[in-house]
Amino acid sequence: MPLHINTPLLESLPLSAITRKHIWLKMDALQPSGSFKIRGVGLACEEYARQGKTRFVSSSGGNAGIAVAYAGRKLGLPVVVVVPESTSERACALIREQQATLVVQGATWAEANTHALSLLNDSDAFIHPFDDPLLWQGHASIIDEVAAEAMRPDAIVLSVGGGGLFAGVMEGLQRNGWADMPVITVETDGTASLARAVEQRDRVTLPTITGVATSLGAKQVCEQAFSLAMSHPVSPAVVTDRQAVQACRRFIDDHRVLIEPACGASLALVYEASHLLNDYENILVIVCGGVTASVEQVMSWTETH
Ligand SMILES: *Cc1c(COP(=O)(O)O)cnc(C)c1O
Repeated sequence: MPLHINTPLLESLPLSAITRKHIWLKMDALQPSGSFKIRGVGLACEEYARQGKTRFVSSSGGNAGIAVAYAGRKLGLPVVVVVPESTSERACALIREQQATLVVQGATWAEANTHALSLLNDSDAFIHPFDDPLLWQGHASIIDEVAAEAMRPDAIVLSVGGGGLFAGVMEGLQRNGWADMPVITVETDGTASLARAVEQRDRVTLPTITGVATSLGAKQVCEQAFSLAMSHPVSPAVVTDRQAVQACRRFIDDHRVLIEPACGASLALVYEASHLLNDYENILVIVCGGVTASVEQVMSWTETH
């Protein structure tokens, strides 16, 4: 039994009306850990447990760390999540709620990550947030589920941080015979590592990450995501923080589900009826979810952004 669930595939009437297209939502916000991450993290943790690993270590204070904590609890194995001091109270509480050991160490993520790596011994598995073939293999299940419902979209819209979701969706497209399906990747302007890399045809590292879409905050995409973006029909799009936050706000009313701005970025492209959608009729949006923003925070961002 996998640790993720088969999520609903919904036709969105509000978004279809705005775009005059058929917009389909793959509702991974409803995963038990609150984001798509449990697909890959769950598969990786199960595989590492089979290989004899007895503890999982993560340095993510976001949805990846929460997914590792969830997977460890379900598999009955201990989890250590090392996060920097800047991690929100809410994220810390969600990790502890999954019964993981939370270690707060360092001013930056790099310092927390160094500490996490120093804890590793031979029987531990380090679970990376986006750069591991096992993660991509697990994320690919999102496309298997769409194919199983006999729905073939004309294009897919998804958010990109480090590119693990993108790499996984590409693997899913390949294994379902949809390798040439166009993908529109979405980032916010403070996290646009894939858009910049494609523009410069070089896997650039951003000097800084800014804005509200913290779950998209990878300064550099993984090698796999970059090479896939260079060799497949991929259109990188960038939205503003304001558009991402407004999309979260509207999505609460339209579909009664709270998501992070990281996911709002993809929905913003649709709410804005981006010209990038023009050529397609049936469009699949990966509603990747995210649990680190509260309703109150989303409402206050809509006033300040
Ligand atoms: C991790 C995450 C992303 C980005 O995924 P990558 O695999 O890093 O590209 C997008 N949205 C949410 C909610 C996430 O948790």
